[in-house]
Amino acid sequence: MRFANKVALITGGGSGIGAATARLLAREGAALVVVDIAADHAQAVAAETGGIAVEADVARRADVERAVAVAVERHGRVDILFNNAGIGCIGRTPDLDPEQWERVIAIDLNAVFYACRAAIPHMPRPGGAIVNTASISGLAGDYGFSAYNAAKGAVINYTRTLAIDHAREGIRVNALCPGLIATPLTAGAAALPGLEQAWHAAIPMGRAGTPEEMAEVAAFLASDAASYVTGSVIVADGGQTAWTGQPD
Ligand code: NAD
Repeated sequence: MRFANKVALITGGGSGIGAATARLLAREGAALVVVDIAADHAQAVAAETGGIAVEADVARRADVERAVAVAVERHGRVDILFNNAGIGCIGRTPDLDPEQWERVIAIDLNAVFYACRAAIPHMPRPGGAIVNTASISGLAGDYGFSAYNAAKGAVINYTRTLAIDHAREGIRVNALCPGLIATPLTAGAAALPGLEQAWHAAIPMGRAGTPEEMAEVAAFLASDAASYVTGSVIVADGGQTAWTGQPD
């Protein structure tokens, strides 16, 4: 029961990595606030985990502030903030609609700032923990993923600054960088002919990760077991970024 008496707010908690993390934290005692733009998904995960669902578009600052306010009204504080909602979009820069760029930056980057800004005043000192879901796409480039890669790279460096800003207060901040994970986010592309095989060939472990495997890493970072871990960027990618790409 690593999370007994802890209040955890998870954005993008209605699906994939967020939902798996909600389930794990709840199993280990956390009281959950499940935030998602997909109200039905948030409600389903909240019902399953005994938490509260908040329908919110994290691109909107007022929505994020309302979600944090719900947590504070109900529980008086936020111990764990898991900034995990995210979307991608494909397009090389000349072809990328500026509105798509702005939407990705709003959800994948601005929302992280909005949530941290709203939640940090309500975190215990010491003891608050923030985990930001970045990506290995924040560590290197991907063809045609300019907006996503820009946002995730910024989340990584924002995480470092936030960590040092709040280290003396005992609030820890870390970034999780998943590689390819089998979730609804990647299911569409994985269904394209040949793409899933090509992806798996780029991963030394030869497979996608699962949302449950990411939940384990997020839970460790959120837990008191990680009490001396802050400003860290934790990669969980089946070895993908450890490999130069030289053939066997
Ligand atoms: P997912 O699509 O299963 O879950 C993302 C959730 O975020 C969904 O429930 C969605 O409704 C919610 N969401 C999207 N836009 C939102 C908004 N504006 N406001 C509130 N909620 C919103 O995807 P996932 O794979 O679990 O992704 C979770 C995080 O992991 C994302 O930040 C993603 O970029 C990151 N990530 C995923 C992979 C992967 O391969 N799946 C790899 C690296 C990083």
